[in-house]
Amino acid sequence: MINRLVVFGATGDLNARYLLPGLAALRAAGHLDDGFQLICADRKGRTDEEFRDWATEQLDRHAASAPADARRWVAATTRYRRADATDPADLASLIAGDGPVALYLALPPAVFPGTVTALRGADLPPGSRIVLEKPFGEDLDSARELNRLLAEVVPEQAVFRVDHFLAMTTVQNLLGSRLANRVLEPIWNSAHISEIEIVWDESLALEGRAGYYDGVGALKDMVQNHLFQVLCLVAMEPPLSLGERDLRDRKIDVLRSIRPFTDEDVLRHTRRARYAAGRVDGRDVPAYIDEDGVDPHSRTETFAEVELHLESWRWSGTRFRLRSGKALEADRKEVRIFFRPVPHLPFGEAVPNVLRFGLDPEDVTLDLTGIGSGVRTLTPLTMTAQMEPSDLPAYGRLLLDVLHGNAALSIRGDEAEQAWRVLAPVMSAWSSGRVPLQEYPAGSRGPAPAGEET
Ligand code: NDP
Repeated sequence: MINRLVVFGATGDLNARYLLPGLAALRAAGHLDDGFQLICADRKGRTDEEFRDWATEQLDRHAASAPADARRWVAATTRYRRADATDPADLASLIAGDGPVALYLALPPAVFPGTVTALRGADLPPGSRIVLEKPFGEDLDSARELNRLLAEVVPEQAVFRVDHFLAMTTVQNLLGSRLANRVLEPIWNSAHISEIEIVWDESLALEGRAGYYDGVGALKDMVQNHLFQVLCLVAMEPPLSLGERDLRDRKIDVLRSIRPFTDEDVLRHTRRARYAAGRVDGRDVPAYIDEDGVDPHSRTETFAEVELHLESWRWSGTRFRLRSGKALEADRKEVRIFFRPVPHLPFGEAVPNVLRFGLDPEDVTLDLTGIGSGVRTLTPLTMTAQMEPSDLPAYGRLLLDVLHGNAALSIRGDEAEQAWRVLAPVMSAWSSGRVPLQEYPAGSRGPAPAGEET
């Protein structure tokens, strides 16, 4: 296990909300001993004391459920260093020390190439690891270039491209449920499943994140990475093991099997939209274009939907719909598997079976049809299962994997490229305006389905 972690982006949102709390959870669970070294760096220039005060506040706020002694330990253990992550001399002095180091780039994505380039001259100790957060590039070319730069610094197995969705209990449960239950895998195919919907709808609007979001949008922020990863776990062939090679090879097979988008597919089967002024949860929300920090000429979408088809024995004939939006009426974060109707029904009316994995909150439901109270009547039944609470938050698991060098849940370089390749025709048609940018009132259910626009 690597016992030295350097986080670039010390006072950033990711460190405050996820990394420091993840480390507190690891400490509480006994995974970090007193020899663990944590250095947090950015360009602000703080003293250790100032940073520890800030870290304590963030931990109290974002890791309230972690034991107080674990929170105090993380804050007290952390050292702060002023450093520019694109400066080879700053990097070299941070990296200097005994043994390998894990470098977590909790940095704006535009800084990644400069940091990785600077690492070439920084004499990274053998066995060190580099952790990046999505987005991995902003299109196929930039993803390739980033992968090329990384390959000059460390071997691929030392690169951890983090997608925290993969560490969510319920997302892992998708695979667990499929593979550990005799009743599911035999019907997990297009003969029995007509449609699979992967949805991440939020009632939250921009919430002051224009600096990051404007120019990125829902397709690149959610669909290209998080929802594609969920798609991979839902649709993959059963892997031989959960080792990094087996799991990642099967995931990339799914991405490779996605039928390439034709012009007609993009026009008919993708939708983009942004929110207009409205009310969400009793609050007035301005139109996206009027949000603080949004470019007045912005054409960024806050809602994206794509319909995909997989060309494989298992899935030809099943429709996959992926969608994500902001400022919607309600949170809806789930995977729904729609089964085909039964071939013959001697009486009554049956609802089609729907298996639903709630992503947040985490639960599982199954819609069935059972016998009704009347004579020869049927009635819908829903079975609900609550998930066991996880002993570690998603970022705790991810950090543990990084420290132990287990890359099974990390996105491999070719996988990141493949995800961009699939969406390239969509990105091109959207940026050239060939697919209209619809509008929906904040607090509504989203844009009207195609053909129902008013
Ligand atoms: P923030 O803008 O909140 O923080 C960025 C941090 O990077 C700041 O500490 C900033 O400090 C530092 N920084 C910027 N440039 C440099 C530089 N050249 N050298 C050293 N430090 C630098 O971003 P987030 O924390 O939100 O995001 C970080 C990464 O995590 C991004 O890649 C993002 O996409 C990803 N991510 C974030 C999530 C979130 O919920 N926040 C969720 C999933 C992924 P300073 O400018 O003072 O140097």
